[in-house]
Amino acid sequence: MAVTANEICDNIKLAREMSVLGNYESAEVYYEGSLQMISRLITAIPDPTRKNKWQQVQKIVSSEYDGVKILKTMLQTLRVETSVEVPLGIRKRDDPIANFGNIMSPTQFAQNDPDVWPPPTPVDHRFNVRSNGPKSRQSNVKKPEAKKGSTSSRVSTARRSEDPKLGRSAKKEERPSSARSERVTESSKAEKDPENTEKSEKGESEEEKKFECHGMERELADTLERDIVQKNPNIHWDDIADLHEAKRLLEEAVVLPMWMPEFFTGIRRPWKGVLMVGPPGTGKTMLAKAVATECGTTFFNVSSSTLTSKYRGESEKMVRLLFEMARFYAPSTIFIDEIDSLCSRRGSESEHEASRRVKSELLVQMDGITANNDEPGKVVMVLAATNFPWDIDEALRRRLEKRIYIPLPTREGREALLKINLREVKLDPDINLMTIARKLDGFSGADITNVCRDASMMSMRRKICGLRPDQIKQLPKEELDLPVTMRDFEEALVKNNKSVSKEDLDKYEKWMNEFGSS
Ligand code: ADP
Repeated sequence: MAVTANEICDNIKLAREMSVLGNYESAEVYYEGSLQMISRLITAIPDPTRKNKWQQVQKIVSSEYDGVKILKTMLQTLRVETSVEVPLGIRKRDDPIANFGNIMSPTQFAQNDPDVWPPPTPVDHRFNVRSNGPKSRQSNVKKPEAKKGSTSSRVSTARRSEDPKLGRSAKKEERPSSARSERVTESSKAEKDPENTEKSEKGESEEEKKFECHGMERELADTLERDIVQKNPNIHWDDIADLHEAKRLLEEAVVLPMWMPEFFTGIRRPWKGVLMVGPPGTGKTMLAKAVATECGTTFFNVSSSTLTSKYRGESEKMVRLLFEMARFYAPSTIFIDEIDSLCSRRGSESEHEASRRVKSELLVQMDGITANNDEPGKVVMVLAATNFPWDIDEALRRRLEKRIYIPLPTREGREALLKINLREVKLDPDINLMTIARKLDGFSGADITNVCRDASMMSMRRKICGLRPDQIKQLPKEELDLPVTMRDFEEALVKNNKSVSKEDLDKYEKWMNEFGSS
Protein backbone atom coordinates (compact mmCIF):
# COMPACT_ATOMS: atom_id res chain seq x y z
CA MET A 1 0.00 0.00 0.00
CA ALA A 2 1.36 3.45 -0.90
CA VAL A 3 2.40 5.61 2.01
CA THR A 4 1.46 9.28 2.03
CA ALA A 5 3.43 12.14 3.54
CA ASN A 6 0.37 12.98 5.64
CA GLU A 7 0.29 9.54 7.22
CA ILE A 8 3.95 9.85 8.08
CA CYS A 9 3.44 13.31 9.57
CA ASP A 10 0.51 12.04 11.64
CA ASN A 11 2.63 9.20 13.01
CA ILE A 12 5.58 11.45 13.80
CA LYS A 13 3.23 13.89 15.51
CA LEU A 14 1.81 11.10 17.64
CA ALA A 15 5.29 9.78 18.41
CA ARG A 16 6.30 13.23 19.62
CA GLU A 17 3.10 13.69 21.58
CA MET A 18 3.58 10.36 23.30
CA SER A 19 7.19 11.28 24.11
CA VAL A 20 6.14 14.59 25.61
CA LEU A 21 3.51 12.79 27.68
CA GLY A 22 6.19 10.39 28.88
CA ASN A 23 4.48 7.45 27.21
CA TYR A 24 7.69 6.08 25.74
CA GLU A 25 6.36 2.62 24.92
CA SER A 26 3.79 4.07 22.55
CA ALA A 27 6.24 6.69 21.30
CA GLU A 28 8.57 3.87 20.29
CA VAL A 29 5.81 2.14 18.38
CA TYR A 30 4.95 5.34 16.51
CA TYR A 31 8.60 6.16 15.82
CA GLU A 32 9.22 2.67 14.55
CA GLY A 33 6.10 2.86 12.36
CA SER A 34 7.13 6.29 11.05
CA LEU A 35 10.61 5.07 10.17
CA GLN A 36 9.23 2.05 8.37
CA MET A 37 6.87 4.25 6.40
CA ILE A 38 9.66 6.69 5.52
CA SER A 39 11.86 3.83 4.28
CA ARG A 40 8.98 2.57 2.16
CA LEU A 41 8.40 6.03 0.76
CA ILE A 42 12.10 6.56 0.02
CA THR A 43 12.33 3.36 -2.00
CA ALA A 44 9.36 4.49 -4.07
CA ILE A 45 10.69 8.02 -4.83
CA PRO A 46 12.50 8.30 -8.16
CA ASP A 47 13.42 12.02 -7.86
CA PRO A 48 16.87 12.26 -6.15
CA THR A 49 16.23 15.72 -4.60
CA ARG A 50 13.02 14.58 -2.97
CA LYS A 51 14.65 11.35 -1.92
CA ASN A 52 17.46 13.29 -0.28
CA LYS A 53 15.00 15.46 1.65
CA TRP A 54 13.19 12.39 2.96
CA GLN A 55 16.53 10.86 3.94
CA GLN A 56 17.20 13.93 6.05
CA VAL A 57 13.78 13.54 7.67
CA GLN A 58 14.63 9.90 8.29
CA LYS A 59 17.84 10.93 10.08
CA ILE A 60 16.01 13.40 12.32
CA VAL A 61 13.24 10.96 13.20
CA SER A 62 15.76 8.22 13.81
CA SER A 63 17.78 10.40 16.23
CA GLU A 64 14.56 11.33 18.05
CA TYR A 65 13.74 7.64 18.28
CA ASP A 66 17.20 6.94 19.73
CA GLY A 67 16.61 9.71 22.27
CA VAL A 68 13.35 8.11 23.37
CA LYS A 69 15.04 4.74 23.71
CA ILE A 70 17.76 6.28 25.90
CA LEU A 71 15.12 7.99 28.03
CA LYS A 72 13.27 4.73 28.46
CA THR A 73 16.41 2.96 29.59
CA MET A 74 17.23 5.81 31.98
CA LEU A 75 13.76 5.58 33.39
CA GLN A 76 14.05 1.88 33.96
CA THR A 77 17.32 2.44 35.85
CA LEU A 78 15.65 5.14 37.90
CA ARG A 79 12.80 2.85 38.74
CA VAL A 80 15.21 0.24 40.05
CA GLU A 81 16.96 2.82 42.19
CA THR A 82 13.77 4.59 43.20
CA SER A 83 15.24 6.52 46.08
CA VAL A 84 18.32 7.72 44.25
CA GLU A 85 18.21 11.37 43.17
CA VAL A 86 19.52 11.87 39.67
CA PRO A 87 22.77 13.81 39.99
CA LEU A 88 21.96 16.83 37.88
CA GLY A 89 25.41 18.33 38.26
CA ILE A 90 27.14 15.71 36.19
CA ARG A 91 25.00 16.37 33.13
CA LYS A 92 25.96 18.56 30.25
CA ARG A 93 23.82 21.68 29.97
CA ASP A 94 23.09 21.30 26.27
CA ASP A 95 22.19 17.65 26.50
CA PRO A 96 18.44 17.48 25.81
CA ILE A 97 18.15 14.21 27.65
CA ALA A 98 19.97 15.62 30.65
CA ASN A 99 17.81 18.73 30.55
CA PHE A 100 14.75 16.57 30.47
CA GLY A 101 15.95 15.24 33.81
CA ASN A 102 16.26 18.82 35.05
CA ILE A 103 12.62 19.54 34.55
CA MET A 104 11.23 16.25 35.79
CA SER A 105 11.75 14.77 39.19
CA PRO A 106 11.85 10.98 39.54
CA THR A 107 8.32 11.11 40.95
CA GLN A 108 7.15 12.96 37.88
CA PHE A 109 8.90 10.40 35.77
CA ALA A 110 6.95 7.74 37.54
CA GLN A 111 3.69 9.62 37.05
CA ASN A 112 4.31 9.80 33.34
CA ASP A 113 5.44 6.25 33.04
CA PRO A 114 2.83 4.04 31.39
CA ASP A 115 4.15 1.09 33.37
CA VAL A 116 3.46 2.80 36.67
CA TRP A 117 -0.20 2.45 37.50
CA PRO A 118 -2.04 5.48 38.78
CA PRO A 119 -3.60 5.29 42.23
CA PRO A 120 -6.85 3.31 42.23
CA THR A 121 -9.81 5.35 41.11
CA PRO A 122 -12.54 5.87 43.70
CA VAL A 123 -15.60 3.91 42.61
CA ASP A 124 -17.82 6.99 42.45
CA HIS A 125 -15.42 8.69 40.07
CA ARG A 126 -15.55 5.94 37.54
CA PHE A 127 -18.06 6.22 34.78
CA ASN A 128 -20.25 3.17 34.78
CA VAL A 129 -23.42 3.74 32.93
CA ARG A 130 -24.90 0.33 33.35
CA SER A 131 -24.36 -0.21 37.04
CA ASN A 132 -24.75 3.33 38.23
CA GLY A 133 -27.66 4.30 36.07
CA PRO A 134 -28.59 7.78 35.02
CA LYS A 135 -28.38 9.29 38.48
CA SER A 136 -24.82 8.42 39.19
CA ARG A 137 -23.98 9.43 35.66
CA GLN A 138 -25.13 12.83 36.65
CA SER A 139 -22.42 12.85 39.28
CA ASN A 140 -19.95 12.56 36.46
CA VAL A 141 -21.49 15.53 34.75
CA LYS A 142 -19.54 18.52 35.80
CA LYS A 143 -19.36 22.11 34.70
CA PRO A 144 -16.18 22.87 32.77
CA GLU A 145 -14.93 25.37 35.31
CA ALA A 146 -15.59 23.05 38.23
CA LYS A 147 -12.23 21.39 37.81
CA LYS A 148 -9.66 23.74 36.46
CA GLY A 149 -6.79 22.01 34.74
CA SER A 150 -8.64 18.76 34.98
CA THR A 151 -7.12 15.83 33.21
CA SER A 152 -10.44 14.28 32.34
CA SER A 153 -11.64 14.15 28.83
CA ARG A 154 -14.34 16.48 27.70
CA VAL A 155 -16.82 15.98 24.93
CA SER A 156 -19.43 18.43 23.91
CA THR A 157 -22.47 16.49 22.99
CA ALA A 158 -24.98 17.86 20.57
CA ARG A 159 -28.02 18.80 22.61
CA ARG A 160 -31.03 16.60 22.38
CA SER A 161 -34.57 17.40 23.07
CA GLU A 162 -35.60 16.54 26.62
CA ASP A 163 -38.54 14.52 25.42
CA PRO A 164 -37.61 11.55 23.28
CA LYS A 165 -41.20 11.28 22.10
CA LEU A 166 -40.96 14.55 20.20
CA GLY A 167 -41.61 14.18 16.53
CA ARG A 168 -39.18 14.79 13.73
CA SER A 169 -40.25 18.32 12.98
CA ALA A 170 -39.80 19.33 16.57
CA LYS A 171 -36.37 17.79 16.50
CA LYS A 172 -35.50 19.61 13.35
CA GLU A 173 -36.14 22.93 15.01
CA GLU A 174 -33.61 22.00 17.63
CA ARG A 175 -30.98 21.03 15.15
CA PRO A 176 -27.92 20.08 17.07
CA SER A 177 -24.61 21.68 16.55
CA SER A 178 -21.41 21.86 18.51
CA ALA A 179 -21.70 22.56 22.18
CA ARG A 180 -20.07 25.92 21.69
CA SER A 181 -22.59 27.07 19.15
CA GLU A 182 -25.30 25.48 21.28
CA ARG A 183 -24.18 27.60 24.17
CA VAL A 184 -24.41 30.69 22.01
CA THR A 185 -27.91 29.72 20.92
CA GLU A 186 -28.75 28.91 24.50
CA SER A 187 -27.67 32.30 25.80
CA SER A 188 -29.45 34.19 23.04
CA LYS A 189 -32.55 32.09 23.69
CA ALA A 190 -32.24 32.86 27.37
CA GLU A 191 -32.34 36.57 26.69
CA LYS A 192 -35.70 36.17 25.03
CA ASP A 193 -37.10 33.43 27.19
CA PRO A 194 -37.04 33.96 30.95
CA GLU A 195 -38.23 30.40 31.58
CA ASN A 196 -35.22 29.16 29.74
CA THR A 197 -32.96 31.42 31.77
CA GLU A 198 -34.40 29.94 34.90
CA LYS A 199 -33.71 26.44 33.56
CA SER A 200 -30.14 27.34 32.80
CA GLU A 201 -29.69 28.79 36.26
CA LYS A 202 -30.95 25.59 37.77
CA GLY A 203 -28.34 23.83 35.71
CA GLU A 204 -30.98 21.68 34.06
CA SER A 205 -29.56 22.03 30.59
CA GLU A 206 -26.09 20.67 31.13
CA GLU A 207 -24.18 21.05 27.87
CA GLU A 208 -20.86 19.59 28.74
CA LYS A 209 -20.13 16.30 30.39
CA LYS A 210 -16.76 14.97 31.27
CA PHE A 211 -15.59 11.48 30.69
CA GLU A 212 -13.50 10.58 33.70
CA CYS A 213 -10.59 8.26 33.32
CA HIS A 214 -7.04 8.02 34.50
CA GLY A 215 -3.47 7.26 33.58
CA MET A 216 -2.91 5.71 30.19
CA GLU A 217 -6.62 5.61 29.49
CA ARG A 218 -6.82 9.34 29.91
CA GLU A 219 -4.29 9.86 27.14
CA LEU A 220 -6.18 7.54 24.87
CA ALA A 221 -9.47 9.21 25.74
CA ASP A 222 -7.94 12.59 24.92
CA THR A 223 -6.70 11.21 21.62
CA LEU A 224 -10.14 9.78 20.91
CA GLU A 225 -11.76 13.07 21.69
CA ARG A 226 -9.35 14.99 19.54
CA ASP A 227 -9.32 12.71 16.51
CA ILE A 228 -12.55 10.80 16.60
CA VAL A 229 -15.35 12.69 18.30
CA GLN A 230 -16.82 14.98 15.74
CA LYS A 231 -18.54 17.77 17.55
CA ASN A 232 -20.73 18.98 14.77
CA PRO A 233 -21.03 16.94 11.60
CA ASN A 234 -23.66 19.44 10.42
CA ILE A 235 -24.90 17.41 7.46
CA HIS A 236 -28.66 17.24 7.08
CA TRP A 237 -30.83 14.87 5.06
CA ASP A 238 -31.48 17.69 2.60
CA ASP A 239 -27.77 18.03 1.86
CA ILE A 240 -27.80 14.48 0.49
CA ALA A 241 -29.19 14.02 -2.98
CA ASP A 242 -31.26 10.98 -3.90
CA LEU A 243 -30.80 7.88 -1.69
CA HIS A 244 -34.41 8.10 -0.46
CA GLU A 245 -34.60 4.41 0.31
CA ALA A 246 -31.32 4.50 2.25
CA LYS A 247 -32.50 7.53 4.23
CA ARG A 248 -35.79 5.78 5.03
CA LEU A 249 -34.01 2.63 6.17
CA LEU A 250 -31.56 4.57 8.30
CA GLU A 251 -34.39 6.54 9.86
CA GLU A 252 -36.12 3.32 10.75
CA ALA A 253 -33.01 1.51 11.91
CA VAL A 254 -31.15 4.28 13.70
CA VAL A 255 -33.07 7.52 14.04
CA LEU A 256 -36.41 6.23 15.28
CA PRO A 257 -34.94 4.00 18.04
CA MET A 258 -33.21 7.10 19.36
CA TRP A 259 -36.40 9.15 19.27
CA MET A 260 -38.79 6.49 20.57
CA PRO A 261 -36.62 4.19 22.66
CA GLU A 262 -39.58 2.82 24.64
CA PHE A 263 -41.13 1.46 21.42
CA PHE A 264 -37.94 -0.21 20.26
CA THR A 265 -37.64 -2.78 23.03
CA GLY A 266 -37.89 -6.58 23.13
CA ILE A 267 -38.37 -8.02 19.66
CA ARG A 268 -38.32 -4.47 18.30
CA ARG A 269 -34.93 -3.76 19.88
CA PRO A 270 -32.68 -1.59 17.72
CA TRP A 271 -30.27 -3.35 15.41
CA LYS A 272 -26.86 -3.98 16.91
CA GLY A 273 -25.23 -2.44 13.91
CA VAL A 274 -26.06 -1.18 10.47
CA LEU A 275 -23.72 -1.74 7.53
CA MET A 276 -23.79 0.55 4.52
CA VAL A 277 -22.45 -1.19 1.46
CA GLY A 278 -21.71 0.38 -1.87
CA PRO A 279 -19.21 1.84 -4.33
CA PRO A 280 -16.90 4.58 -3.07
CA GLY A 281 -18.14 8.16 -3.18
CA THR A 282 -21.84 7.35 -3.03
CA GLY A 283 -22.55 9.25 0.19
CA LYS A 284 -22.11 6.64 2.94
CA THR A 285 -20.08 8.96 5.16
CA MET A 286 -22.51 11.78 4.50
CA LEU A 287 -25.42 9.54 5.52
CA ALA A 288 -23.69 8.66 8.80
CA LYS A 289 -23.08 12.32 9.52
CA ALA A 290 -26.69 13.15 8.70
CA VAL A 291 -27.89 10.45 11.11
CA ALA A 292 -25.79 12.00 13.88
CA THR A 293 -26.93 15.52 13.03
CA GLU A 294 -30.61 14.64 12.72
CA CYS A 295 -30.59 12.62 15.97
CA GLY A 296 -28.39 15.06 17.85
CA THR A 297 -26.18 12.22 19.02
CA THR A 298 -22.55 12.38 19.87
CA PHE A 299 -20.79 11.33 16.71
CA PHE A 300 -17.72 9.10 16.87
CA ASN A 301 -16.15 9.06 13.42
CA VAL A 302 -13.69 6.17 13.28
CA SER A 303 -11.82 4.78 10.37
CA SER A 304 -10.70 1.18 10.78
CA SER A 305 -7.34 1.96 9.30
CA THR A 306 -6.90 4.55 12.04
CA LEU A 307 -7.62 1.94 14.65
CA THR A 308 -5.28 -0.64 13.19
CA SER A 309 -2.35 1.50 12.11
CA LYS A 310 -2.24 4.87 13.82
CA TYR A 311 -2.81 3.53 17.27
CA ARG A 312 -0.98 0.30 16.81
CA GLY A 313 -0.38 -1.37 20.14
CA GLU A 314 -3.22 0.51 21.76
CA SER A 315 -5.91 -0.54 19.34
CA GLU A 316 -8.01 -2.90 21.46
CA LYS A 317 -7.85 -0.51 24.37
CA MET A 318 -8.91 2.22 22.00
CA VAL A 319 -11.93 0.20 20.85
CA ARG A 320 -12.99 -0.51 24.44
CA LEU A 321 -12.59 3.10 25.44
CA LEU A 322 -14.45 4.22 22.33
CA PHE A 323 -17.47 2.19 23.35
CA GLU A 324 -17.20 3.25 26.98
CA MET A 325 -17.13 6.86 25.91
CA ALA A 326 -20.03 6.27 23.55
CA ARG A 327 -22.05 4.76 26.39
CA PHE A 328 -21.14 7.63 28.66
CA TYR A 329 -22.18 10.25 26.12
CA ALA A 330 -25.17 8.23 24.89
CA PRO A 331 -27.16 8.52 22.76
CA SER A 332 -24.20 8.12 20.46
CA THR A 333 -23.48 7.07 16.93
CA ILE A 334 -20.22 5.24 16.30
CA PHE A 335 -19.41 5.38 12.62
CA ILE A 336 -16.72 2.92 11.49
CA ASP A 337 -15.58 3.68 7.99
CA GLU A 338 -13.76 1.05 5.88
CA ILE A 339 -14.79 -1.65 8.34
CA ASP A 340 -13.53 -4.30 5.89
CA SER A 341 -9.94 -3.32 6.65
CA LEU A 342 -10.40 -4.69 10.15
CA CYS A 343 -10.71 -8.14 8.68
CA SER A 344 -8.28 -8.23 5.84
CA ARG A 345 -4.75 -9.40 6.10
CA ARG A 346 -2.31 -6.52 5.91
CA GLY A 347 1.12 -7.93 5.25
CA SER A 348 3.07 -8.85 8.34
CA GLU A 349 1.96 -11.41 10.89
CA SER A 350 2.02 -8.92 13.75
CA GLU A 351 -0.23 -6.51 11.88
CA HIS A 352 -2.63 -9.29 11.20
CA GLU A 353 -2.53 -10.31 14.85
CA ALA A 354 -3.18 -6.71 15.92
CA SER A 355 -6.18 -6.33 13.67
CA ARG A 356 -7.49 -9.71 14.81
CA ARG A 357 -7.40 -8.52 18.42
CA VAL A 358 -9.11 -5.26 17.48
CA LYS A 359 -11.82 -7.18 15.70
CA SER A 360 -12.41 -9.48 18.66
CA GLU A 361 -12.71 -6.48 20.96
CA LEU A 362 -15.13 -4.88 18.52
CA LEU A 363 -17.30 -8.00 18.52
CA VAL A 364 -17.34 -8.10 22.32
CA GLN A 365 -18.24 -4.43 22.52
CA MET A 366 -20.98 -4.76 19.95
CA ASP A 367 -22.50 -7.59 21.94
CA GLY A 368 -22.35 -5.34 25.00
CA ILE A 369 -24.33 -2.67 23.18
CA THR A 370 -27.45 -4.83 23.06
CA ALA A 371 -27.72 -4.94 26.83
CA ASN A 372 -27.03 -1.26 27.16
CA ASN A 373 -29.52 -0.29 24.48
CA ASP A 374 -32.35 -1.60 26.62
CA GLU A 375 -31.94 1.48 28.75
CA PRO A 376 -34.13 4.12 27.10
CA GLY A 377 -32.28 7.22 25.96
CA LYS A 378 -28.87 5.57 26.28
CA VAL A 379 -28.77 4.06 22.83
CA VAL A 380 -25.40 3.52 21.18
CA MET A 381 -25.64 2.76 17.51
CA VAL A 382 -22.88 1.32 15.35
CA LEU A 383 -22.98 2.42 11.78
CA ALA A 384 -20.37 0.93 9.50
CA ALA A 385 -19.48 1.49 5.89
CA THR A 386 -17.55 -0.54 3.37
CA ASN A 387 -16.67 -0.55 -0.29
CA PHE A 388 -15.56 -4.20 0.02
CA PRO A 389 -18.32 -6.09 1.82
CA TRP A 390 -16.96 -9.47 0.62
CA ASP A 391 -13.88 -8.90 2.83
CA ILE A 392 -15.97 -8.81 5.99
CA ASP A 393 -15.88 -12.04 7.89
CA GLU A 394 -18.93 -13.86 9.11
CA ALA A 395 -18.72 -12.96 12.81
CA LEU A 396 -18.65 -9.26 12.13
CA ARG A 397 -21.23 -9.49 9.38
CA ARG A 398 -23.62 -11.23 11.77
CA ARG A 399 -23.34 -8.35 14.24
CA LEU A 400 -24.01 -5.81 11.52
CA GLU A 401 -27.55 -7.07 11.37
CA LYS A 402 -28.97 -4.53 8.95
CA ARG A 403 -27.08 -4.40 5.67
CA ILE A 404 -28.17 -1.77 3.22
CA TYR A 405 -27.01 -0.90 -0.25
CA ILE A 406 -26.00 2.64 -1.13
CA PRO A 407 -26.19 2.69 -4.92
CA LEU A 408 -24.88 4.99 -7.60
CA PRO A 409 -27.23 7.94 -8.08
CA THR A 410 -30.24 7.62 -10.38
CA ARG A 411 -30.81 10.17 -13.16
CA GLU A 412 -32.96 12.32 -10.85
CA GLY A 413 -30.32 11.90 -8.17
CA ARG A 414 -27.58 13.03 -10.52
CA GLU A 415 -29.59 16.11 -11.41
CA ALA A 416 -30.11 16.85 -7.72
CA LEU A 417 -26.39 16.35 -7.13
CA LEU A 418 -25.62 18.82 -9.92
CA LYS A 419 -27.94 21.35 -8.29
CA ILE A 420 -26.33 20.84 -4.86
CA ASN A 421 -22.82 21.13 -6.27
CA LEU A 422 -23.55 24.17 -8.40
CA ARG A 423 -25.62 26.13 -5.90
CA GLU A 424 -22.81 28.61 -5.26
CA VAL A 425 -21.79 29.28 -8.87
CA LYS A 426 -23.44 31.27 -11.65
CA LEU A 427 -24.97 29.18 -14.43
CA ASP A 428 -25.33 30.13 -18.06
CA PRO A 429 -29.07 30.30 -18.99
CA ASP A 430 -28.47 27.72 -21.73
CA ILE A 431 -27.25 25.10 -19.34
CA ASN A 432 -29.40 21.99 -19.24
CA LEU A 433 -28.84 19.98 -16.08
CA MET A 434 -31.06 17.14 -17.26
CA THR A 435 -28.87 16.59 -20.33
CA ILE A 436 -25.72 16.69 -18.21
CA ALA A 437 -27.28 14.26 -15.71
CA ARG A 438 -27.99 11.85 -18.54
CA LYS A 439 -24.35 12.01 -19.65
CA LEU A 440 -23.23 11.28 -16.09
CA ASP A 441 -24.78 7.81 -16.06
CA GLY A 442 -22.59 5.48 -13.97
CA PHE A 443 -20.84 8.32 -12.14
CA SER A 444 -20.78 8.28 -8.33
CA GLY A 445 -21.69 11.30 -6.22
CA ALA A 446 -18.00 12.02 -5.65
CA ASP A 447 -17.33 11.72 -9.42
CA ILE A 448 -20.10 14.23 -10.10
CA THR A 449 -18.65 16.62 -7.51
CA ASN A 450 -15.32 16.39 -9.34
CA VAL A 451 -16.93 17.09 -12.71
CA CYS A 452 -18.73 20.13 -11.29
CA ARG A 453 -15.56 21.44 -9.69
CA ASP A 454 -13.70 21.07 -12.95
CA ALA A 455 -16.48 22.65 -15.04
CA SER A 456 -16.74 25.62 -12.70
CA MET A 457 -13.02 26.32 -13.14
CA MET A 458 -12.92 26.05 -16.95
CA SER A 459 -13.67 29.70 -17.74
CA MET A 460 -11.07 30.83 -15.21
CA ARG A 461 -8.49 28.49 -16.74
CA ARG A 462 -9.19 29.87 -20.20
CA LYS A 463 -8.86 33.44 -18.89
CA ILE A 464 -5.51 32.96 -17.18
CA CYS A 465 -3.99 30.76 -19.88
CA GLY A 466 -0.64 32.23 -20.97
CA LEU A 467 -0.64 35.02 -18.34
CA ARG A 468 2.16 35.65 -15.87
CA PRO A 469 1.38 35.40 -12.12
CA ASP A 470 1.49 39.21 -11.67
CA GLN A 471 -0.95 39.63 -14.55
CA ILE A 472 -3.25 37.00 -13.08
CA LYS A 473 -3.22 38.81 -9.73
CA GLN A 474 -4.35 42.00 -11.42
CA LEU A 475 -7.32 40.43 -13.18
CA PRO A 476 -10.61 41.79 -11.77
CA LYS A 477 -12.58 39.12 -9.88
CA GLU A 478 -15.67 39.57 -12.05
CA GLU A 479 -13.66 38.66 -15.16
CA LEU A 480 -12.84 35.29 -13.61
CA ASP A 481 -16.22 34.58 -12.09
CA LEU A 482 -18.09 33.82 -15.32
CA PRO A 483 -21.22 31.65 -15.52
CA VAL A 484 -20.61 27.94 -16.09
CA THR A 485 -21.63 26.87 -19.58
CA MET A 486 -22.53 23.63 -21.36
CA ARG A 487 -19.15 23.79 -23.07
CA ASP A 488 -17.43 23.83 -19.67
CA PHE A 489 -19.26 20.66 -18.75
CA GLU A 490 -18.44 18.98 -22.04
CA GLU A 491 -14.74 19.70 -21.47
CA ALA A 492 -14.94 18.51 -17.87
CA LEU A 493 -16.65 15.31 -18.97
CA VAL A 494 -13.85 14.55 -21.39
CA LYS A 495 -11.32 14.89 -18.57
CA ASN A 496 -13.20 13.02 -15.84
CA ASN A 497 -14.13 9.37 -16.05
CA LYS A 498 -16.38 7.35 -13.82
CA SER A 499 -14.63 5.53 -11.01
CA VAL A 500 -16.88 2.51 -10.63
CA SER A 501 -16.80 -0.31 -13.14
CA LYS A 502 -19.62 -2.58 -14.29
CA GLU A 503 -17.81 -5.58 -12.74
CA ASP A 504 -17.74 -3.83 -9.36
CA LEU A 505 -21.47 -3.18 -9.58
CA ASP A 506 -22.12 -6.82 -10.39
CA LYS A 507 -20.09 -7.85 -7.34
CA TYR A 508 -22.16 -5.58 -5.07
CA GLU A 509 -25.37 -6.92 -6.51
CA LYS A 510 -24.26 -10.49 -5.96
CA TRP A 511 -23.20 -9.81 -2.37
CA MET A 512 -26.41 -7.94 -1.55
CA ASN A 513 -28.50 -10.79 -3.01
CA GLU A 514 -26.73 -13.15 -0.68
CA PHE A 515 -26.29 -11.09 2.48
CA GLY A 516 -28.29 -7.88 2.12
CA SER A 517 -31.15 -7.06 4.49
CA SER A 518 -32.85 -3.88 3.47
P1 ADP B 1 -18.46 7.36 0.67
O1 ADP B 1 -18.41 7.43 2.16
O2 ADP B 1 -19.61 6.54 0.16
O3 ADP B 1 -17.17 6.95 0.04
P2 ADP B 1 -18.81 10.20 0.88
O4 ADP B 1 -20.03 10.27 1.73
O5 ADP B 1 -17.51 10.42 1.56
O6 ADP B 1 -18.76 8.81 0.12
O7 ADP B 1 -18.98 11.20 -0.35
C1 ADP B 1 -17.86 11.80 -0.98
C2 ADP B 1 -18.27 13.11 -1.60
O8 ADP B 1 -19.16 12.86 -2.69
C3 ADP B 1 -19.05 13.98 -0.64
O9 ADP B 1 -18.20 14.83 0.06
C4 ADP B 1 -19.98 14.73 -1.57
O10 ADP B 1 -19.32 15.85 -2.11
C5 ADP B 1 -20.23 13.78 -2.71
N1 ADP B 1 -21.47 12.99 -2.60
C6 ADP B 1 -21.56 11.66 -2.75
N2 ADP B 1 -22.83 11.25 -2.69
C7 ADP B 1 -23.57 12.34 -2.45
C8 ADP B 1 -24.98 12.57 -2.28
N3 ADP B 1 -25.87 11.57 -2.35
N4 ADP B 1 -25.41 13.84 -2.07
C9 ADP B 1 -24.53 14.85 -2.02
N5 ADP B 1 -23.18 14.70 -2.19
C10 ADP B 1 -22.71 13.48 -2.41
